Amino acid sequence: MHPVLKPALRRGWRDRDTVQFGMTAAHAQTLGPMDPATRGFLDLLNGTRGLPLLREEGRRMHLPAGRVDTLLERLTRAGLVDDARGGGPAADALRERDDVLQRLRPDLTSLSLTTAEPGGALARLAARRVLGVRVEGAGRVGALLASVLSGAGVGEVDVRDTGRVEPWDVAPGGLPADSIGDRREAAAHAAVRRAAPDRPRRHAHSPGSATRNPGLSLVILAPRDDVGVHAPDPGAAEPLMACGTPHLYAGVVEGTGVVGPLVLPGETGCARCLHFERSDRDPAWPRLIAQWRSARARRIGACDLTLATAVAGLAAAHALAFLDGRSPASTGARWEVSLPGLHWSARPLRPHPACGCADAQKGTEKTRGEHSSTERKPRATMAVQRPSTKRRREAGAARPTGTWRAHV
Ligand SMILES: [Zn+2]
Repeated sequence: MHPVLKPALRRGWRDRDTVQFGMTAAHAQTLGPMDPATRGFLDLLNGTRGLPLLREEGRRMHLPAGRVDTLLERLTRAGLVDDARGGGPAADALRERDDVLQRLRPDLTSLSLTTAEPGGALARLAARRVLGVRVEGAGRVGALLASVLSGAGVGEVDVRDTGRVEPWDVAPGGLPADSIGDRREAAAHAAVRRAAPDRPRRHAHSPGSATRNPGLSLVILAPRDDVGVHAPDPGAAEPLMACGTPHLYAGVVEGTGVVGPLVLPGETGCARCLHFERSDRDPAWPRLIAQWRSARARRIGACDLTLATAVAGLAAAHALAFLDGRSPASTGARWEVSLPGLHWSARPLRPHPACGCADAQKGTEKTRGEHSSTERKPRATMAVQRPSTKRRREAGAARPTGTWRAHV
């Protein structure tokens, strides 16, 4: 263990004895009271010293016996300390790829905010490299979303679509203008490759490549068709439901952006549940949806570029949070935002009794409740105060990275 105070959190002294780590309500916490010697000792926690050397420095600074260990224990328990050499073999392999790590440095720093255990942030970043995600739909939303996931370090991002790139598919970060006329799927793959921080590694005999397992951890359904966004086709998700594959919906319909639901088969509502729930609310829904589906004409639907970009980014963030082992707000909920006010609002989607998808999964190898957010007990850090209890709930590690992995 080579402790380093997490650089993501700015430090400030609230008074002579009390230090505040972090600025924002989501992550800030205070530590104190602290004597001047201990205060000076904090500067030594920069990842260059191991525990024996830190204890020696503590003695030299006349800190009371045991103070170094007690302080480190408290800081660690509060999630303020990272381990400059921790994270396991995959993290070690990533440390050797300085070019990749430099690209992902801000992402790593960000991960440290939501990862309590020392070395955990790099371990999660390294874990992303062997995860597999498939994006279905390579329009303005899908192609950008896939590129963003690739850029964030997800190792295997596949994209599926048909047809050729049309001029209106082009979007910054997604399909480029010079791909117009190319096969849409191939152009999206090229965009994903360009965004990847470690492109050469895919073709090289790099460390760990032999053990890679690109099984799908998540499928993202980002249809170019507006009816498909508004009313996800339950039939299209059937193979995913049958295999227990988590899937996330995202897209733009008219002037509304949609992120969610993230469907955890057997636990949260699925596309068919959504259909039943809407039919309950609006008796005309089945009639309307039948007309919309049958009237699909070749036309260019509304898709505001900024809205598509926001949806792609937010959906990618939700996907990444899930892949990192968290429970994003789209789990069992559909988030919508409409032009021009752009207020985000969510509607929960629970398993519908008429669908039976929750029952169908019972008795399979999936253990219900495995993914529910396990709220950590408040940390009994004597001198640490956290302004936000919400943050604990949101950042609580529900499961190790990729444990919802399923193959389709
Ligand atoms: Zn269902």
